[in-house]
Amino acid sequence: MHKSTRRRLVIPIFVPHVGCPRLCVFCNQRSISGNINIPSRQETTDTIEQYLEVANRYDVVEVAFFGGSFTAIHPALQEDFLSCVYPYIGKGVDYVRISTRPDCINDEILMRLKKYRVHVIELGAQSMDDKVLEASLRGHTSRHTIEASELIKREGFVLGLQTMPGLPMSDRNSDIETAKKIAALGPDLVRIYPTIIIKKTHLETMYRQGKYEPQTLEYMIDLCAELVEIYEKEGIDIARIGLQSSENMTEEKEIVAGPYHPAFGQLVHSRRALQGIVDRVREMRIGGGKVLIRVPEKELSTYIGQRRSNVLKLKEMFNFEDVRFIPDPLMDNGFVLE
Ligand code: SF4
Repeated sequence: MHKSTRRRLVIPIFVPHVGCPRLCVFCNQRSISGNINIPSRQETTDTIEQYLEVANRYDVVEVAFFGGSFTAIHPALQEDFLSCVYPYIGKGVDYVRISTRPDCINDEILMRLKKYRVHVIELGAQSMDDKVLEASLRGHTSRHTIEASELIKREGFVLGLQTMPGLPMSDRNSDIETAKKIAALGPDLVRIYPTIIIKKTHLETMYRQGKYEPQTLEYMIDLCAELVEIYEKEGIDIARIGLQSSENMTEEKEIVAGPYHPAFGQLVHSRRALQGIVDRVREMRIGGGKVLIRVPEKELSTYIGQRRSNVLKLKEMFNFEDVRFIPDPLMDNGFVLE
């Protein structure tokens, strides 16, 4: 069920919001960047050295530039950061990852990233629905995402695409269509960040004025389970589901409202597991009595669900007296109903 199983050490370099032409509705980078200095060359090198001291405990070591719009910052500053990492590539560091806006990719930018052996480029696509992008003040269209993705792939980089279901003007249909269009671009990986209202953002103002209503946690778990299915069918790696505060430079205490849960991804995988079993039980037309479900040992907690939610749901839906999950160390994926 989960594809990214290798132990990965991510060395984070936080590049504050200094390049974005405007402020997207959900973003608090400007308020954060007031308190953060741009890391100096020495600080960047020190961070890398510090993390490399524990690198032997990991399978993969990656330097990741966080902050949302790496290629929108001044080219000299980009070179400054990249040249700090360059000497470590192949000598402790396996990969370099940056994330940026879809309208901040062109041939010249890609040549620079290639020169410094950047491996992964992630685009904050957020939505493939232009009315959603406009309402979110993104300042780019879905066409930018299509063109940038094609360029990135053509130049041989690993392509990551990030989306945000639940943005203003989106609905279930538009978020599902976005996932289909994103999958059609053939990314190597995707990240799904459900829209959360963060303090000091336009979205917070809209929320307080009654102009934006966040989705419920339950709705978002269901929706993301569908999105995951779309990506999994195409064999696309899902690197993240749910807000990761370290990557978004956001702390939990800054969340005002929205479908946030610290283990959101786990809830989505549990929902997917439940849906699979529900479909099978319906096909087999069984109900009542006792049911045994053999599952991969490593997925046991995913199948049972938080606070045994999947067990309770199956009992309620099909009148089972008892639902038992049996962990099987020899199984890799799927489940067997007995
Ligand atoms: S979301 Fe990304 S592109 Fe938008 S303002 Fe924030 S850092 Fe810039």
